[in-house]
Amino acid sequence: MSKVPTGPYGVGLWKFICARWDTFCKLLKFEVGDGSLIRFWDDVWCLEQPLKFAYPELYRIACNKEGVVADFVQFSGEVVHWDVDFTRMVQDWELESISSFLEVLYSAKIKRYEQDKLCWQPSPSIGFQVKSFYNQISSNGAGSFPWKNIWKAKVPPRVAFFSWTAASGKILTLDNLCRRGIILASWCCMCKADGESIDHLLFHCPYAKELWDMIFALFGIHWVMPKHVIEVFCCWQGSMGRHKNMVIWKAIPHCLMWCIWRERNARIFEGCELSTAELKQLFYRLLMEWMTAIGLVIFSNLIEFIDFCSLS
Ligand SMILES: [Zn+2]
Repeated sequence: MSKVPTGPYGVGLWKFICARWDTFCKLLKFEVGDGSLIRFWDDVWCLEQPLKFAYPELYRIACNKEGVVADFVQFSGEVVHWDVDFTRMVQDWELESISSFLEVLYSAKIKRYEQDKLCWQPSPSIGFQVKSFYNQISSNGAGSFPWKNIWKAKVPPRVAFFSWTAASGKILTLDNLCRRGIILASWCCMCKADGESIDHLLFHCPYAKELWDMIFALFGIHWVMPKHVIEVFCCWQGSMGRHKNMVIWKAIPHCLMWCIWRERNARIFEGCELSTAELKQLFYRLLMEWMTAIGLVIFSNLIEFIDFCSLS
């Protein structure tokens, strides 16, 4: 592993991999076979951490700090015998460590006629999966990231990417730019009032709220708007159950947020502005185009499409 880059420059993907390398390693564990490939003190094999971290006082006085597991284990028949040498006699106050250390060693599972194997702890029987690693790094221990509702919706990839960025709290709204040291007056260009944060712009701004309310009225549901984008993707599917228009339903939060984001950018960078009615129309037109593109149903006009959403 090369040096971890710390400066503001460098390749983003490589920096991302480096930043999560430790997390990745913590999810790996060796299954001991003949012990020829596993470093006795450095690798994770009989505990959830390397032995040198679990027993630093013993590691300090170990004669062989570099050896592999096979260097320390002997067999007489099927009986295992561990032989770890230290540079001096073990002192009284170290007896407890030694006893626990030996207990760990003697309880380790060894398949001496097989090769050593590296296991992916989140799914040991299946092996490494990008999906399970992604869940580990994106959940932060509290529920899992709604990757399915974001990436599996039938929307253009650039829109799914936008939704993912928004759910990760990283689109460049004014509050995020301020956090990066770019000083700007943080006001919302849609309602011309409150500061612009992702959650305000996409949900709680009166302008956005009107669009969301339109959808809930169309589908005939009552919904209390969650606070954050990520929560919307987490519970979006569940609030609808098994609706016939599930494909359309799943695309809605993407399409709605995408329209608001486009409108926001047009106002800031191009100085043009749609009315709420025009934006609602844009939303339906875009959604219909996406649904037509995946061959869901062909609609001759917007009214037909809106009827289809509300009636089935
Ligand atoms: Zn606003």
